[in-house]
Amino acid sequence: MTKNCDRLGRESWLCIECGMVKPEITVVDVTLVDEPVDCPLNFIKGNALGVMHRDFLSLLNAESASRNLFLGQIFRVDGGTYDAWVSFHGHQRIIVRGTKHITYRMCPACGQIAYFALGPKYLCPQPQDDVEIFDNECGQLVVTRAVYERIRVTEWEKLLVKKLPVFEKPKDSLPVDLFAVE
Ligand SMILES: [Zn+2]
Repeated sequence: MTKNCDRLGRESWLCIECGMVKPEITVVDVTLVDEPVDCPLNFIKGNALGVMHRDFLSLLNAESASRNLFLGQIFRVDGGTYDAWVSFHGHQRIIVRGTKHITYRMCPACGQIAYFALGPKYLCPQPQDDVEIFDNECGQLVVTRAVYERIRVTEWEKLLVKKLPVFEKPKDSLPVDLFAVE
């Protein structure tokens, strides 16, 4: 991001306490020094805002994407746009949980949960079934099987995809509802 865009972000859409996009923020437009690299999903260094290639976006299906993601423009330093790319963050965040070396905290400034864990990854509890695309921060998405099948994963050389099991009980010694942690 350009220095000016970074400063404006810190004054508006970015929670400087936890580095995540504030929960009440919708579309975020940014100005980047360089065009994003060729991986279809990436994120902007220094914060959790994702960038997505439009070819990938088109496979998500326009209606599904606009129902689940806030999509912004990416400007060049000269005022033009990187037309092949959009910025994104999800309407619904989801936390992919692990089993060990857990760090957890609720951000005192914006109330979002910052969670990190190693070990096998899984979802807990069962995600809400009316959402097809969840945001897992830093350019990572969690999608339903129906969306996964639309993406044609093998066409994207640098796209890493993992199947996540869903458990009723967490394996990280925290409650099912992370907002209920004392
Ligand atoms: Zn925060």
